[in-house]
Amino acid sequence: MRYLITGGAGFIGSHLAERLLDRGNRVVLLDNLSTGSVENIRHLKSSGRMQYHLDNIENRQLLAELVDDADVIVHLAAAVGVKLIVESPVKTIETNVNGTQLILEAACKKKKLVLAASTSEVYGKNTNVPFQEDADLVLGPTTKGRWSYAASKALDEFLAISYWKEKKLPVIVARLFNTVGPRQTGRYGMVLPNFVKSALDNTTISVYGNGKQSRCFCDVRDTVEGVIRLMDSERAIGEVVNVGNTEEITIEGLAHRVKERTGSFSPIEYVPYDKAYEPGFEDMMRRVPSVEKLQALTGFRPHTPLNEIIDRVAVFFRQKTEGLDVQKLATASAD
Ligand code: UDP
Repeated sequence: MRYLITGGAGFIGSHLAERLLDRGNRVVLLDNLSTGSVENIRHLKSSGRMQYHLDNIENRQLLAELVDDADVIVHLAAAVGVKLIVESPVKTIETNVNGTQLILEAACKKKKLVLAASTSEVYGKNTNVPFQEDADLVLGPTTKGRWSYAASKALDEFLAISYWKEKKLPVIVARLFNTVGPRQTGRYGMVLPNFVKSALDNTTISVYGNGKQSRCFCDVRDTVEGVIRLMDSERAIGEVVNVGNTEEITIEGLAHRVKERTGSFSPIEYVPYDKAYEPGFEDMMRRVPSVEKLQALTGFRPHTPLNEIIDRVAVFFRQKTEGLDVQKLATASAD
């Protein structure tokens, strides 16, 4: 099988590529390095079954060729990270909506299977956890930049499902919940790499809001396993499926846990959302996936305990500081 992965040099894309190569598949990565990095895939270059193109999805000719050569397309390329989204809403909307549209259009010509990555953000302010895939999406006003991410991803989902219903293009939508692990950078505001990095440096850990909001963190190896199993499952076609871990922790609890696991002396400070993001920023208080559908379709549910995830991320940052070949080590620790 040959897989085209858009966003293949990103955090999740690089782990997915690695796992597919491990099981003997061929992978082609398309990435414009907006948030991805060549560092993430350097260790895969020696594989004779990996190719990469540093280009935009908007390069229609290249995209058509790559789609032609692939059996399956995994569409991960997107604007990610709440900080980035709040700062550049135009880019977020354009990247997410146009990119998905171009992928679906190109795939449809050859009727190639597309797995489109979506996000738990689409559940928005819904408070009815755990979130089931058929739950209502409760988004805030269009004047608040944060919701542009959820809205753009929801539109991507509508488009993907419509391609399936109307044009019989086989698609699967995977809603990913707070994926974390080695190689994720804190640069775009993600909480776990930021906390671990601060803890290792013994600098201040910044908890936004009152810290009572909670999340469920899914090890990237589990996310990748869930995504691969969905692509291998005929029954997942035309479906929207959550992929996440169900172990829930408050962000304040996470700060303490990270300190404890790393033996850090970092002080913990509370930063109001207005200061952390933008005036009037709205957060989600709880975000817990229902993974019943994933399990029913694939027999798999993410299981890596949070403590193990924190330890793996800490090892990654320690090695990075020491200047070791972290990508190779991230692979080794992922085996
Ligand atoms: N957060 C935090 N400190 C940080 C980064 C994030 O307290 O340095 C909070 C953020 O406000 C949110 C949660 O941690 O409540 C998860 O944030 P992240 O951006 O990782 O993912 P989200 O779930 O918001 O997509």
